[in-house]
Amino acid sequence: MTDTTCTIEGCVRPVRAKKQGWCGAHHQRFLRHGDPLGGGESRAGAAANLAAAWLQLDRLASAEQAARLAVSLAPGAPEARFNLGKALERLGRRDEAIAEYRRLPDFEPARTALAKLGAR
Ligand SMILES: [Zn+2]
Repeated sequence: MTDTTCTIEGCVRPVRAKKQGWCGAHHQRFLRHGDPLGGGESRAGAAANLAAAWLQLDRLASAEQAARLAVSLAPGAPEARFNLGKALERLGRRDEAIAEYRRLPDFEPARTALAKLGAR
């Protein structure tokens, strides 16, 4: 059976694109993004939006979780990390928040947040 399963690591769906050895979903991603593992940016965006929404709703643990997911999907996106900092700050985890903000030296809102916390 293994030769009929998608060759992407961790994927157990049946092969649809026989030439590449990918399932339908991974083949679709390849067609859309040029990479069977592509599309991470939009998933990161969705996670970042979710984090912002949880923050607005004061669901801080959920906001932290969504923000961490967003950061892992798009480590270079400052908004995702900033939201993580916000969630940590509002959870009372000041030092962790400062650490996240400090990783965004070129992101103005993070500098402002650091100043408000009395940190640089
Ligand atoms: Zn697959």
